[in-house]
Amino acid sequence: MRLYNTLSKKVEEFKPKIEGKVNLYTCGPTVYNFSHVGNLRTYIFEDVLQKSLEYLGYDVKRVMNITDVGHMTSDADFGEDKMLKGAKREGKTVYEIADFYTKAFLNDMSKLNIAIPSIIEKASANVDIYIKIIERLLEKGYAYISNGNVYFDVSKAKDYYALSGKNPDDLLVAVRETVEDDKAKKSPFDFGLWFTISKFENQAMKWDSPWGVGYPGWHIECSGIAIKEFGDFVDIHCGGVDNIFPHHTNEIAQSEGYLGHEWCNFWCHGAHLNDKTGKMSKSNGEFLTLSLLESKGYRPLDYRYFCLSSHYRNTLVFTYESLDIAKNALTKLKKRVQNLEDNGIVNESQFNDYNNKFKEALSNDLNTAQMLTSVYDVLKDSELDDSTKLSLIRSFDCVLSLNLDSVEDFGIDEEFKKYIEEKIKIRDVAKKNKDFALADSIRDELLEKKVKLLDKKEGTTYTIVD
Ligand SMILES: [Zn+2]
Repeated sequence: MRLYNTLSKKVEEFKPKIEGKVNLYTCGPTVYNFSHVGNLRTYIFEDVLQKSLEYLGYDVKRVMNITDVGHMTSDADFGEDKMLKGAKREGKTVYEIADFYTKAFLNDMSKLNIAIPSIIEKASANVDIYIKIIERLLEKGYAYISNGNVYFDVSKAKDYYALSGKNPDDLLVAVRETVEDDKAKKSPFDFGLWFTISKFENQAMKWDSPWGVGYPGWHIECSGIAIKEFGDFVDIHCGGVDNIFPHHTNEIAQSEGYLGHEWCNFWCHGAHLNDKTGKMSKSNGEFLTLSLLESKGYRPLDYRYFCLSSHYRNTLVFTYESLDIAKNALTKLKKRVQNLEDNGIVNESQFNDYNNKFKEALSNDLNTAQMLTSVYDVLKDSELDDSTKLSLIRSFDCVLSLNLDSVEDFGIDEEFKKYIEEKIKIRDVAKKNKDFALADSIRDELLEKKVKLLDKKEGTTYTIVD
C-alpha cells in the first residue's frame, strides 16, 4: 500500500508496526450541529482507506473520538464554546445536544455506507487519562501552569513544525488570525491542556483536577483516547487538511512528550470540499448537510460516488450540476450491474487479473477514480461472462460501498415497490408448483410496466428498463 504521508510530504510504502495489523486513528466530529458534507467527505476517504487496507488483508482496528466537551468555534484556545452555542440555540442541555448530534452523525455515516469504527470514544468519558498525561507533561517540563490554566510549552517539543512543513513566521500569521491573544501563554503557539479559567461563563461540563475544577483542551482528547486504545504507537492517523495545524501538530507534541518517543509515522489528510467561490461546504449560502441533499432528491450514495470520482487529496468543488452527473452515472451503473445474470460459475484467472488491477488502483494512494474505472472496464469486457463480472463487481464494492448490486432504489415510490415484491412472491409460489404459465404471465405483466425480473442464485431481483 502506497500512501501520501503528510509528515514526509511524499507517497511512501506503508508498513504497520506489527505485521498484518493496522492501528488507525481518525479524528471524529464535534457534536453540536449536523455534519456538513465537506466533513463527511473526510469520513468517506477514511472509510475507503480502512476498507482498502482490509481488502489487502490487513486487520484494521479503527478508533474515533466524539468531541462532546465544550470546545471552540475555531482551533483557538479561546472563542465561543460550540456545545454551549448549540445548547442555547435549541434550549437543551449540552448533554442532550451531544447525544442528539452523535446519533445524527452516526446516521449519516450509515447512510453513506461508512463502516462504523470498531471503537468510538466520547471525549467526556476519558478525563482521567487527560489528567494523567498532563501530570506527566508537567513533571517532564513540557507544560506549565499560568493564570489558573495548564499550557503546553511548544519550545520544548522536538520538530514542532515538521507536520505542517511551515516556518514559525508563516504560522504566526495563522495563529494571530484564529487565536485571541492569551496573556497567560509564554508563546502564541503554546496551547491549553487544562482550563480552569476561560471566557466561557457557563461551561457546563467540568471536572475536578489537580489544578482546580475545569475542562480539558481539545487536542489532548485525541492523544488521550489514542494512547488509551493503542498504547505506545499509532500506525496511521487521519483527519481533514484543516486538522494539520494546530490540532495534529499539537497531538504529536503532547503525545511524544508524554511517551518519550516517536508516536505516529504516517499521517493522511483529506482535502476540502469547496463551492465555486472557494468557500467550504456551502452552496449559495446554504449549509450543506446530507439531509438537505436527500430533500432535493439525491441518494446519499450519489454523494459517495461524487466523492469517489475525485482523488481525496484534491480539493473538490461542489455544484449541483456535478452531483447530478454523479447521480445519473450511479443509476446507470446500477442498472447495468443488475442486468447481469448470475449462474454462480466464475472464471478464476479472469477474476484474478481484474482483481489485481483493482488492488493496484487502491494501493496507488487510494486512486478511487481508477477503482471506479475498473468497474466500467469489467462491464464492457466482452470476454467476461456475466457471473465473473458480477463476482468482480461485488468484490470491488466491498471497498467502493456503492450498493452496486442492490435494487433498493430506482426513484420509484414505496407502493410500487411493494406491488413488485408481492408479484415476485406469487411468481415464486407458481414456480414451486410448476405453474410456469402463471410465472411467465407475471413476468410479462411486470415487463409491460418496465420492470424486468432477474432470476439469480439467491432469489429474484428486478431492474427498471427504459
Ligand atoms: Zn483529533
